[in-house]
Amino acid sequence: MSGSLFVKDTFSPVAARARRLSGEARVSVDSVALALHSYDAGLARFRPEAVISVAEASGLAPLMRLLAENGVPVTPRGLGSSLTGGCAPAKGGAVLKLGGLNKILEIDTAAGYAFVEAGVCNGVLQDELSRAGFFYSPLPLSFRCSTVGGNIAVNARGPRSLKYGSSADNLLAVDVVSPGGDEFRLERGCGGPDMAGFFSGLEGTCGVAARVKVRITRRSGTLIYFLAAFNSPEELLLAAAQAQSQGVCFRSLEALDKMSATASESCFGDGYPLDCGALAVGELDGHGAADDLKTLKRVFKAAGCPWFKADECDPKSEPVWLASSRAFSAVARLSHSVLSEDFSVPRKKLGLAIGAASAALAQYDLRAGMVYSPCTGSLRPSILFDERNIFETRRARKAAHEMLKACAEMG
Ligand SMILES: Cc1cc2nc3c(=O)[nH]c(=O)nc-3n(C[C@H](O)[C@H](O)[C@H](O)COP(=O)(O)OP(=O)(O)OC[C@H]3O[C@@H](n4cnc5c(N)ncnc54)[C@H](O)[C@@H]3O)c2cc1C
Repeated sequence: MSGSLFVKDTFSPVAARARRLSGEARVSVDSVALALHSYDAGLARFRPEAVISVAEASGLAPLMRLLAENGVPVTPRGLGSSLTGGCAPAKGGAVLKLGGLNKILEIDTAAGYAFVEAGVCNGVLQDELSRAGFFYSPLPLSFRCSTVGGNIAVNARGPRSLKYGSSADNLLAVDVVSPGGDEFRLERGCGGPDMAGFFSGLEGTCGVAARVKVRITRRSGTLIYFLAAFNSPEELLLAAAQAQSQGVCFRSLEALDKMSATASESCFGDGYPLDCGALAVGELDGHGAADDLKTLKRVFKAAGCPWFKADECDPKSEPVWLASSRAFSAVARLSHSVLSEDFSVPRKKLGLAIGAASAALAQYDLRAGMVYSPCTGSLRPSILFDERNIFETRRARKAAHEMLKACAEMG
Protein backbone atom coordinates (compact mmCIF):
# COMPACT_ATOMS: atom_id res chain seq x y z
CA MET A 1 0.00 0.00 0.00
CA SER A 2 1.42 3.42 -0.89
CA GLY A 3 2.81 5.35 2.04
CA SER A 4 3.45 2.27 4.18
CA LEU A 5 7.08 1.43 3.36
CA PHE A 6 8.97 4.15 5.17
CA VAL A 7 6.66 4.91 8.07
CA LYS A 8 8.48 5.15 11.43
CA ASP A 9 7.47 2.86 14.27
CA THR A 10 6.10 5.44 16.68
CA PHE A 11 3.29 3.48 18.28
CA SER A 12 4.93 0.36 19.79
CA PRO A 13 6.58 2.26 22.68
CA VAL A 14 3.18 3.60 23.84
CA ALA A 15 0.99 0.62 22.91
CA ALA A 16 0.72 -0.76 26.46
CA ARG A 17 -0.15 2.65 27.93
CA ALA A 18 -2.70 3.31 25.14
CA ARG A 19 -4.32 -0.06 25.96
CA ARG A 20 -4.48 0.80 29.65
CA LEU A 21 -6.18 4.13 28.82
CA SER A 22 -8.60 2.92 26.14
CA GLY A 23 -9.13 -0.74 27.00
CA GLU A 24 -7.34 -3.77 25.55
CA ALA A 25 -9.98 -4.50 22.91
CA ARG A 26 -10.13 -0.93 21.64
CA VAL A 27 -6.54 -0.76 20.40
CA SER A 28 -5.82 -2.79 17.31
CA VAL A 29 -2.59 -3.38 15.41
CA ASP A 30 -4.06 -6.28 13.51
CA SER A 31 -3.10 -6.11 9.82
CA VAL A 32 -6.71 -6.38 8.64
CA ALA A 33 -7.80 -3.49 10.88
CA LEU A 34 -4.83 -1.43 9.67
CA ALA A 35 -5.67 -2.14 6.03
CA LEU A 36 -9.35 -1.29 6.58
CA HIS A 37 -8.43 2.08 8.08
CA SER A 38 -5.86 3.03 5.46
CA TYR A 39 -8.31 4.65 3.05
CA ASP A 40 -11.50 6.67 2.75
CA ALA A 41 -13.91 6.98 -0.18
CA GLY A 42 -11.22 8.65 -2.30
CA LEU A 43 -8.05 7.23 -3.84
CA ALA A 44 -5.50 7.94 -1.04
CA ARG A 45 -3.97 4.90 0.70
CA PHE A 46 -1.80 5.23 3.86
CA ARG A 47 -1.37 2.51 6.43
CA PRO A 48 -1.64 3.44 10.13
CA GLU A 49 0.35 1.75 12.91
CA ALA A 50 -2.68 1.36 15.15
CA VAL A 51 -6.43 1.88 15.19
CA ILE A 52 -7.91 3.11 18.46
CA SER A 53 -11.70 3.01 18.88
CA VAL A 54 -12.78 5.81 21.17
CA ALA A 55 -15.88 4.97 23.20
CA GLU A 56 -15.93 7.75 25.82
CA ALA A 57 -15.50 11.46 25.09
CA SER A 58 -13.75 11.81 28.46
CA GLY A 59 -11.09 9.32 27.33
CA LEU A 60 -9.95 11.48 24.41
CA ALA A 61 -7.84 14.05 26.28
CA PRO A 62 -5.51 11.63 28.14
CA LEU A 63 -5.12 9.56 24.98
CA MET A 64 -4.27 12.57 22.80
CA ARG A 65 -1.79 13.76 25.47
CA LEU A 66 -0.05 10.38 25.56
CA LEU A 67 0.21 10.22 21.78
CA ALA A 68 1.41 13.83 21.46
CA GLU A 69 4.06 13.46 24.19
CA ASN A 70 5.46 10.45 22.38
CA GLY A 71 5.38 11.88 18.87
CA VAL A 72 2.68 9.54 17.53
CA PRO A 73 0.84 11.16 14.58
CA VAL A 74 -2.93 11.12 15.06
CA THR A 75 -5.65 11.04 12.39
CA PRO A 76 -9.27 11.41 13.54
CA ARG A 77 -11.77 9.31 11.64
CA GLY A 78 -15.55 9.53 11.65
CA LEU A 79 -17.13 7.01 9.30
CA GLY A 80 -14.43 7.35 6.64
CA SER A 81 -16.63 8.73 3.85
CA SER A 82 -14.42 11.68 2.96
CA LEU A 83 -13.40 11.90 -0.69
CA THR A 84 -10.12 13.75 -0.17
CA GLY A 85 -8.01 11.29 1.82
CA GLY A 86 -8.67 13.39 4.95
CA CYS A 87 -8.93 10.42 7.28
CA ALA A 88 -6.24 8.35 5.55
CA PRO A 89 -3.23 8.54 7.93
CA ALA A 90 -0.61 10.12 5.66
CA LYS A 91 1.94 10.15 8.50
CA GLY A 92 1.17 6.70 9.86
CA GLY A 93 0.66 6.72 13.63
CA ALA A 94 -2.75 6.13 15.17
CA VAL A 95 -6.18 6.42 13.61
CA LEU A 96 -8.71 7.57 16.23
CA LYS A 97 -11.98 5.96 15.29
CA LEU A 98 -14.74 8.21 16.62
CA GLY A 99 -17.90 6.39 15.51
CA GLY A 100 -18.23 5.01 19.05
CA LEU A 101 -18.94 8.52 20.37
CA ASN A 102 -22.53 8.06 19.28
CA LYS A 103 -24.75 9.46 22.02
CA ILE A 104 -27.41 12.07 21.32
CA LEU A 105 -27.08 14.00 24.57
CA GLU A 106 -29.91 16.52 24.28
CA ILE A 107 -32.48 17.78 21.77
CA ASP A 108 -34.14 21.06 22.71
CA THR A 109 -36.76 21.92 20.08
CA ALA A 110 -37.87 25.08 21.94
CA ALA A 111 -34.34 26.49 21.94
CA GLY A 112 -33.61 25.00 18.49
CA TYR A 113 -30.50 22.93 19.14
CA ALA A 114 -29.19 19.38 19.45
CA PHE A 115 -26.17 18.51 21.60
CA VAL A 116 -24.51 15.31 20.42
CA GLU A 117 -21.27 13.37 20.61
CA ALA A 118 -19.23 13.95 17.47
CA GLY A 119 -19.43 10.36 16.24
CA VAL A 120 -23.23 10.36 15.95
CA CYS A 121 -24.21 9.38 12.42
CA ASN A 122 -25.92 12.28 10.62
CA GLY A 123 -28.72 9.91 9.51
CA VAL A 124 -29.44 8.80 13.08
CA LEU A 125 -29.74 12.42 14.20
CA GLN A 126 -32.00 13.26 11.22
CA ASP A 127 -34.32 10.33 12.08
CA GLU A 128 -34.55 11.43 15.69
CA LEU A 129 -35.26 15.05 14.70
CA SER A 130 -37.75 14.06 12.03
CA ARG A 131 -39.95 12.42 14.65
CA ALA A 132 -40.15 15.83 16.35
CA GLY A 133 -40.85 17.71 13.06
CA PHE A 134 -37.30 19.13 12.82
CA PHE A 135 -34.16 18.62 10.73
CA TYR A 136 -30.45 19.37 10.87
CA SER A 137 -29.70 21.34 7.71
CA PRO A 138 -26.50 19.62 6.46
CA LEU A 139 -27.67 16.58 4.49
CA PRO A 140 -24.68 15.41 2.45
CA LEU A 141 -25.41 12.59 0.03
CA SER A 142 -23.42 10.49 2.48
CA PHE A 143 -25.59 11.36 5.50
CA ARG A 144 -26.30 7.70 6.28
CA CYS A 145 -22.57 6.91 6.39
CA SER A 146 -20.98 10.05 7.86
CA THR A 147 -20.80 11.54 11.35
CA VAL A 148 -21.90 14.96 12.52
CA GLY A 149 -18.30 15.55 13.71
CA GLY A 150 -16.93 14.54 10.30
CA ASN A 151 -19.48 16.81 8.57
CA ILE A 152 -18.35 19.72 10.72
CA ALA A 153 -14.66 18.91 10.23
CA VAL A 154 -15.06 19.28 6.45
CA ASN A 155 -17.90 21.84 6.53
CA ALA A 156 -20.15 19.43 4.63
CA ARG A 157 -23.20 20.65 2.76
CA GLY A 158 -26.24 19.13 1.18
CA PRO A 159 -28.91 20.36 -1.24
CA ARG A 160 -30.96 22.27 1.36
CA SER A 161 -27.83 24.07 2.64
CA LEU A 162 -28.68 26.61 -0.07
CA LYS A 163 -31.46 27.97 2.14
CA TYR A 164 -30.58 26.60 5.59
CA GLY A 165 -26.79 26.76 5.64
CA SER A 166 -23.74 24.51 5.77
CA SER A 167 -22.29 22.57 8.71
CA ALA A 168 -20.30 25.65 9.78
CA ASP A 169 -23.41 27.86 9.57
CA ASN A 170 -25.33 25.48 11.84
CA LEU A 171 -22.60 24.91 14.41
CA LEU A 172 -23.34 26.62 17.73
CA ALA A 173 -20.58 25.18 19.92
CA VAL A 174 -17.92 22.50 19.81
CA ASP A 175 -16.01 20.80 22.63
CA VAL A 176 -12.51 20.31 21.29
CA VAL A 177 -9.57 18.21 22.45
CA SER A 178 -6.40 19.83 21.14
CA PRO A 179 -3.57 17.77 19.61
CA GLY A 180 -1.73 18.17 22.95
CA GLY A 181 -4.70 16.88 24.97
CA ASP A 182 -6.16 20.17 26.26
CA GLU A 183 -9.94 20.46 26.37
CA PHE A 184 -11.82 23.65 25.52
CA ARG A 185 -15.13 24.87 24.14
CA LEU A 186 -15.55 27.11 21.09
CA GLU A 187 -18.91 28.82 21.14
CA ARG A 188 -20.80 31.13 18.81
CA GLY A 189 -22.27 34.38 20.07
CA CYS A 190 -19.82 34.91 22.95
CA GLY A 191 -18.09 37.91 21.36
CA GLY A 192 -14.67 37.90 19.70
CA PRO A 193 -13.73 36.07 16.53
CA ASP A 194 -15.95 33.22 15.32
CA MET A 195 -13.66 30.39 16.37
CA ALA A 196 -16.38 27.73 16.15
CA GLY A 197 -16.96 28.68 12.51
CA PHE A 198 -13.19 28.67 11.99
CA PHE A 199 -12.91 25.14 13.43
CA SER A 200 -15.39 23.84 10.86
CA GLY A 201 -13.38 22.96 7.78
CA LEU A 202 -10.05 22.35 9.53
CA GLU A 203 -10.43 18.58 8.97
CA GLY A 204 -9.18 17.66 12.42
CA THR A 205 -5.81 19.37 11.97
CA CYS A 206 -6.24 21.61 15.04
CA GLY A 207 -8.00 19.18 17.34
CA VAL A 208 -10.71 16.59 17.64
CA ALA A 209 -14.37 17.54 18.09
CA ALA A 210 -15.67 15.48 21.00
CA ARG A 211 -19.18 16.94 21.36
CA VAL A 212 -21.05 19.46 19.24
CA LYS A 213 -24.08 21.67 19.67
CA VAL A 214 -25.87 22.26 16.36
CA ARG A 215 -28.83 24.34 15.23
CA ILE A 216 -31.96 22.43 14.28
CA THR A 217 -34.77 23.76 12.08
CA ARG A 218 -38.52 23.19 12.19
CA ARG A 219 -39.83 21.49 9.05
CA SER A 220 -42.10 23.64 6.89
CA GLY A 221 -45.65 22.44 6.12
CA THR A 222 -45.29 22.84 2.34
CA LEU A 223 -42.71 21.28 0.06
CA ILE A 224 -42.86 21.68 -3.72
CA TYR A 225 -40.57 19.58 -5.91
CA PHE A 226 -39.95 20.66 -9.48
CA LEU A 227 -38.09 19.38 -12.51
CA ALA A 228 -37.15 21.66 -15.39
CA ALA A 229 -35.43 20.63 -18.61
CA PHE A 230 -33.15 22.99 -20.52
CA ASN A 231 -31.37 22.69 -23.84
CA SER A 232 -27.97 23.47 -22.33
CA PRO A 233 -26.25 24.12 -18.98
CA GLU A 234 -25.82 27.77 -19.99
CA GLU A 235 -29.59 28.23 -20.40
CA LEU A 236 -30.23 26.52 -17.09
CA LEU A 237 -27.67 28.66 -15.23
CA LEU A 238 -29.08 31.87 -16.69
CA ALA A 239 -32.66 30.89 -15.83
CA ALA A 240 -31.70 30.04 -12.23
CA ALA A 241 -29.91 33.38 -11.80
CA GLN A 242 -32.92 35.25 -13.22
CA ALA A 243 -35.32 33.40 -10.92
CA GLN A 244 -33.22 34.30 -7.89
CA SER A 245 -32.97 37.92 -8.96
CA GLN A 246 -36.79 37.98 -9.18
CA GLY A 247 -36.99 36.89 -5.55
CA VAL A 248 -37.45 33.12 -5.83
CA CYS A 249 -36.08 31.57 -2.65
CA PHE A 250 -35.05 28.00 -3.52
CA ARG A 251 -34.88 25.50 -0.69
CA SER A 252 -32.51 23.60 -2.95
CA LEU A 253 -31.52 23.62 -6.60
CA GLU A 254 -29.26 21.10 -8.30
CA ALA A 255 -28.64 20.36 -11.96
CA LEU A 256 -27.90 17.05 -13.65
CA ASP A 257 -25.99 16.91 -16.91
CA LYS A 258 -27.24 14.77 -19.76
CA MET A 259 -25.28 11.66 -18.72
CA SER A 260 -26.46 11.86 -15.09
CA ALA A 261 -30.11 12.42 -16.06
CA THR A 262 -30.07 9.61 -18.63
CA ALA A 263 -28.26 7.12 -16.36
CA SER A 264 -30.59 7.94 -13.48
CA GLU A 265 -33.69 7.59 -15.64
CA SER A 266 -32.61 4.21 -16.98
CA CYS A 267 -31.95 2.94 -13.41
CA PHE A 268 -34.82 4.47 -11.48
CA GLY A 269 -37.44 5.56 -14.02
CA ASP A 270 -38.29 8.84 -12.28
CA GLY A 271 -39.85 10.29 -15.43
CA TYR A 272 -36.97 12.53 -16.53
CA PRO A 273 -37.03 13.78 -20.12
CA LEU A 274 -34.21 12.06 -22.01
CA ASP A 275 -33.60 14.64 -24.70
CA CYS A 276 -32.50 17.61 -22.58
CA GLY A 277 -29.02 19.11 -22.26
CA ALA A 278 -29.43 19.85 -18.54
CA LEU A 279 -32.08 19.02 -15.96
CA ALA A 280 -32.81 21.24 -12.96
CA VAL A 281 -34.19 19.53 -9.84
CA GLY A 282 -35.29 21.84 -7.07
CA GLU A 283 -37.47 22.47 -4.04
CA LEU A 284 -39.48 25.40 -2.71
CA ASP A 285 -40.80 25.47 0.84
CA GLY A 286 -42.36 27.75 3.43
CA HIS A 287 -45.18 30.27 3.19
CA GLY A 288 -43.90 31.83 -0.05
CA ALA A 289 -43.62 28.52 -1.93
CA ALA A 290 -46.80 28.91 -4.04
CA ASP A 291 -45.86 32.45 -5.14
CA ASP A 292 -42.29 31.35 -5.82
CA LEU A 293 -43.62 28.58 -8.04
CA LYS A 294 -45.64 31.04 -10.15
CA THR A 295 -42.60 33.28 -10.62
CA LEU A 296 -40.39 30.30 -11.38
CA LYS A 297 -42.69 28.97 -14.11
CA ARG A 298 -42.85 32.38 -15.75
CA VAL A 299 -39.08 33.02 -15.59
CA PHE A 300 -38.09 29.52 -16.71
CA LYS A 301 -40.53 29.62 -19.63
CA ALA A 302 -39.15 32.97 -20.78
CA ALA A 303 -35.62 31.54 -20.48
CA GLY A 304 -36.43 28.76 -22.96
CA CYS A 305 -37.33 25.87 -20.64
CA PRO A 306 -39.23 23.43 -22.89
CA TRP A 307 -40.44 21.07 -20.11
CA PHE A 308 -41.44 21.84 -16.53
CA LYS A 309 -43.13 19.71 -13.90
CA ALA A 310 -43.93 20.55 -10.27
CA ASP A 311 -45.76 18.72 -7.49
CA GLU A 312 -46.41 19.25 -3.83
CA CYS A 313 -44.83 16.39 -1.90
CA ASP A 314 -44.47 14.97 1.60
CA PRO A 315 -42.60 17.62 3.65
CA LYS A 316 -40.63 14.78 5.26
CA SER A 317 -39.24 13.67 1.89
CA GLU A 318 -35.98 14.97 0.44
CA PRO A 319 -36.59 14.69 -3.31
CA VAL A 320 -33.57 16.73 -4.42
CA TRP A 321 -31.29 14.76 -2.11
CA LEU A 322 -32.77 11.59 -3.63
CA ALA A 323 -32.36 12.83 -7.21
CA SER A 324 -28.69 13.80 -6.63
CA SER A 325 -28.00 10.58 -4.81
CA ARG A 326 -29.62 8.47 -7.54
CA ALA A 327 -27.70 10.34 -10.23
CA PHE A 328 -24.44 9.62 -8.38
CA SER A 329 -25.14 5.91 -8.00
CA ALA A 330 -26.54 5.51 -11.52
CA VAL A 331 -23.42 7.08 -13.04
CA ALA A 332 -21.13 5.04 -10.74
CA ARG A 333 -22.74 1.84 -12.08
CA LEU A 334 -21.49 2.65 -15.57
CA SER A 335 -17.89 1.79 -14.78
CA HIS A 336 -15.65 -0.30 -12.49
CA SER A 337 -14.40 2.75 -10.56
CA VAL A 338 -15.46 6.33 -10.07
CA LEU A 339 -13.40 9.32 -9.01
CA SER A 340 -15.74 11.85 -7.39
CA GLU A 341 -14.54 15.41 -7.28
CA ASP A 342 -16.11 18.50 -5.78
CA PHE A 343 -15.05 21.95 -7.01
CA SER A 344 -16.31 25.41 -6.16
CA VAL A 345 -16.12 28.46 -8.39
CA PRO A 346 -17.89 31.83 -8.28
CA ARG A 347 -21.33 30.93 -9.53
CA LYS A 348 -21.09 33.23 -12.55
CA LYS A 349 -18.16 31.09 -13.71
CA LEU A 350 -19.92 27.75 -13.34
CA GLY A 351 -20.61 27.54 -17.09
CA LEU A 352 -16.88 28.05 -17.76
CA ALA A 353 -15.98 25.43 -15.15
CA ILE A 354 -18.32 22.90 -16.78
CA GLY A 355 -16.66 23.68 -20.12
CA ALA A 356 -13.17 23.24 -18.61
CA ALA A 357 -14.17 19.93 -17.02
CA SER A 358 -15.55 18.68 -20.35
CA ALA A 359 -12.31 19.73 -22.08
CA ALA A 360 -10.21 17.81 -19.52
CA LEU A 361 -12.36 14.71 -20.04
CA ALA A 362 -11.93 14.97 -23.81
CA GLN A 363 -8.16 15.47 -23.43
CA TYR A 364 -7.79 12.28 -21.36
CA ASP A 365 -10.41 10.29 -23.27
CA LEU A 366 -12.68 9.81 -20.25
CA ARG A 367 -16.35 10.22 -19.39
CA ALA A 368 -18.01 11.74 -16.34
CA GLY A 369 -21.46 12.49 -15.07
CA MET A 370 -21.70 16.01 -13.66
CA VAL A 371 -24.02 17.36 -11.00
CA TYR A 372 -23.78 21.05 -10.20
CA SER A 373 -25.39 23.66 -7.99
CA PRO A 374 -26.37 26.71 -10.07
CA CYS A 375 -26.78 29.00 -7.04
CA THR A 376 -23.56 28.14 -5.20
CA GLY A 377 -21.08 27.38 -7.98
CA SER A 378 -20.36 23.83 -6.83
CA LEU A 379 -19.44 21.34 -9.56
CA ARG A 380 -19.25 17.61 -8.82
CA PRO A 381 -17.96 15.44 -11.66
CA SER A 382 -17.95 11.66 -11.20
CA ILE A 383 -15.11 10.53 -13.45
CA LEU A 384 -15.50 6.98 -14.76
CA PHE A 385 -12.43 4.77 -15.02
CA ASP A 386 -11.13 1.32 -14.15
CA GLU A 387 -8.82 1.23 -11.12
CA ARG A 388 -7.41 -2.12 -12.33
CA ASN A 389 -5.95 -0.30 -15.34
CA ILE A 390 -2.99 1.73 -14.09
CA PHE A 391 -2.88 3.90 -17.22
CA GLU A 392 -6.56 4.75 -17.05
CA THR A 393 -6.23 5.49 -13.33
CA ARG A 394 -3.41 7.91 -14.11
CA ARG A 395 -5.51 9.58 -16.79
CA ALA A 396 -8.41 9.95 -14.35
CA ARG A 397 -6.13 11.57 -11.76
CA LYS A 398 -4.67 13.89 -14.39
CA ALA A 399 -8.10 14.91 -15.66
CA ALA A 400 -9.19 15.65 -12.07
CA HIS A 401 -6.03 17.69 -11.58
CA GLU A 402 -6.69 19.70 -14.76
CA MET A 403 -10.23 20.41 -13.56
CA LEU A 404 -8.97 21.50 -10.15
CA LYS A 405 -6.38 23.79 -11.75
CA ALA A 406 -8.97 25.38 -14.03
CA CYS A 407 -11.44 25.89 -11.17
CA ALA A 408 -8.75 27.31 -8.87
CA GLU A 409 -7.80 29.82 -11.57
CA MET A 410 -11.45 30.91 -11.76
CA GLY A 411 -11.29 31.97 -8.12
C1 LIG B 1 -21.20 8.85 -1.78
C2 LIG B 1 -20.68 10.09 -1.10
C3 LIG B 1 -21.42 11.25 -1.14
C4 LIG B 1 -20.96 12.41 -0.51
N1 LIG B 1 -21.72 13.52 -0.55
C5 LIG B 1 -21.31 14.64 0.04
C6 LIG B 1 -22.13 15.82 0.01
O1 LIG B 1 -23.23 15.82 -0.54
N2 LIG B 1 -21.66 16.94 0.62
C7 LIG B 1 -20.45 16.95 1.26
O2 LIG B 1 -20.08 18.01 1.80
N3 LIG B 1 -19.65 15.85 1.32
C8 LIG B 1 -20.06 14.70 0.73
N4 LIG B 1 -19.28 13.57 0.77
C9 LIG B 1 -18.00 13.60 1.49
C10 LIG B 1 -18.09 13.04 2.94
O3 LIG B 1 -19.20 12.26 3.16
C11 LIG B 1 -18.10 14.15 3.92
O4 LIG B 1 -16.82 14.69 3.86
C12 LIG B 1 -18.43 13.75 5.37
O5 LIG B 1 -18.73 14.95 6.04
C13 LIG B 1 -17.32 13.02 6.09
O6 LIG B 1 -17.81 12.56 7.35
P1 LIG B 1 -17.17 11.28 8.04
O7 LIG B 1 -17.80 11.09 9.37
O8 LIG B 1 -17.24 10.12 7.12
O9 LIG B 1 -15.69 11.77 8.25
P2 LIG B 1 -14.33 11.09 7.77
O10 LIG B 1 -14.38 10.82 6.32
O11 LIG B 1 -14.02 9.97 8.66
O12 LIG B 1 -13.31 12.28 8.07
C14 LIG B 1 -13.33 13.43 7.27
C15 LIG B 1 -12.31 14.44 7.82
O13 LIG B 1 -12.75 14.94 9.08
C16 LIG B 1 -11.83 14.62 10.12
N5 LIG B 1 -12.67 14.26 11.27
C17 LIG B 1 -13.63 13.31 11.34
N6 LIG B 1 -14.24 13.35 12.53
C18 LIG B 1 -13.66 14.35 13.23
C19 LIG B 1 -13.85 14.89 14.53
N7 LIG B 1 -14.78 14.41 15.37
N8 LIG B 1 -13.07 15.92 14.92
C20 LIG B 1 -12.13 16.43 14.09
N9 LIG B 1 -11.90 15.96 12.86
C21 LIG B 1 -12.66 14.93 12.43
C22 LIG B 1 -10.97 13.49 9.56
O14 LIG B 1 -9.66 13.51 10.11
C23 LIG B 1 -10.94 13.84 8.09
O15 LIG B 1 -9.98 14.83 7.84
C24 LIG B 1 -19.71 12.40 0.15
C25 LIG B 1 -18.97 11.22 0.20
C26 LIG B 1 -19.44 10.08 -0.42
C27 LIG B 1 -18.64 8.82 -0.33
